[in-house]
Amino acid sequence: MKTFAVQTLGCKVNQYESQQIRQILEQSGLIAAEPAQRPDLIVVNTCCVTHIASSKSRQSIRKVRKAHPDSIVIVTGCLPVGPDDETGTLDNDIIVKDKRTLSLILERLSKKQLFLLNNANHSKPRNLSKIKDKNPNLTHLSAQKHPKELLTSADSLPILTRFTGQSRAFLKVQDGCDAYCTYCIIPKIRTVVCNKPVKTVLKEAGNLIRAGHKEIVLTGIFLGAYGQKTARRKKWDSAKLDSLAGLVDKIADLEGLKRLRISSLEPLDVTNRLLEVMAAHDNIAPHLHLSLQSGSAAVLKKMARQYTIEDFLRVVEKIKRVFDRPAITTDIIVGFPGETEGDFQQTINVAKEVGFSKIHTFSFSIRKNTAAEKIAKLLGTVSPQEIKRRSTVLQQLDTELQQHFRQSCTGLTETILIEKINPPRGRCSRYFMVDVGGQPKRRCVKKGDVVDITILEKNLLAGI
Ligand code: SF4
Repeated sequence: MKTFAVQTLGCKVNQYESQQIRQILEQSGLIAAEPAQRPDLIVVNTCCVTHIASSKSRQSIRKVRKAHPDSIVIVTGCLPVGPDDETGTLDNDIIVKDKRTLSLILERLSKKQLFLLNNANHSKPRNLSKIKDKNPNLTHLSAQKHPKELLTSADSLPILTRFTGQSRAFLKVQDGCDAYCTYCIIPKIRTVVCNKPVKTVLKEAGNLIRAGHKEIVLTGIFLGAYGQKTARRKKWDSAKLDSLAGLVDKIADLEGLKRLRISSLEPLDVTNRLLEVMAAHDNIAPHLHLSLQSGSAAVLKKMARQYTIEDFLRVVEKIKRVFDRPAITTDIIVGFPGETEGDFQQTINVAKEVGFSKIHTFSFSIRKNTAAEKIAKLLGTVSPQEIKRRSTVLQQLDTELQQHFRQSCTGLTETILIEKINPPRGRCSRYFMVDVGGQPKRRCVKKGDVVDITILEKNLLAGI
């Protein structure tokens, strides 16, 4: 076996873990190949956060299997771990549920010491005899049961030396959630809340900077719980409330790091200390992604979110006092069971009041095995047509707010990380794309370069 490909679905955490998989395979001597080059091994790193994500993951697996009948296909990520047997109808070579075992399998596969696992945690491949015929070295043995805390430990795959294919490198520092928002399946998939030690994070961030990455994006499943043993705020150790702020402070101090971005947080994760740290470092982006989910107090309560609308608005006010024109982006779910027109209007009002610089709109759909499934039975669902209408209204508002925010940023001197050339375009610290091609001296920039410009009307892109 000489070549491999990794296909990724889902969030930044999954993209980070795909890089870890890639690294294991490269370090074992395999060469990354494009799908058209018929790789010997294909890893599909799946997502199942919504039904649509699950179905896209299954489609990808089927497509890969059909296009590459002679390759070994490993299915990993969230899909095989979910409470529903959503891989049940797939005919794959190997389905791997836990990351520690995944790294063992990948190493053995690369060294041609193939083995397939056969215990409760791992499905037996249906075409085992075919694989055995093609791989005479294949051995078939049972995996040992791993202690629960090892299953999703942030340390179970290697730290990255680079993030191939991207100028912005994601760095996972936290994993797991036990907050049980009623619509979310993640606490049943990434069950163990764990943190990467500060020393390890700094080593990994140093690796990424040396590899030439200009921006590091800190990620986690519940990033604000960094330093805590649980994502349930009420159970937090008060002595560790500023763990994330301390980590951010140390990373921002690393020599050569042009930009540090903090990914998704809840409003109450934004402590005074975190804002102080962000303000003290020029290389930390004045951007916070705060998931609102709904602007209605009643809906937030049904979602079991750990903050109130008042908390949200108070934190936004604080952020605006500290930073000049900060970018505040968000996620909003439309059509949660029992959401009335009045609830939706409250969401619209909050969105306008905050002036989000980007809204990711999600149309609610029931995820089996979540509390929202029961809430839907009790309160009824919002009709698909109405969900569609509300999504459209929110998306239109998003377009207006984005344009307004970008206009408000003209005159600012911004650092742009070039992501596209011809014409040269890149993301600014406030997270929107800017065209830097209008200025002749900018024409020779390369992907991954960092340039400072004063944002003018002509640098703003028409679309969003
Ligand atoms: S905080 Fe809520 S939405 Fe986020 S992963 Fe945990 S349960 Fe899901």
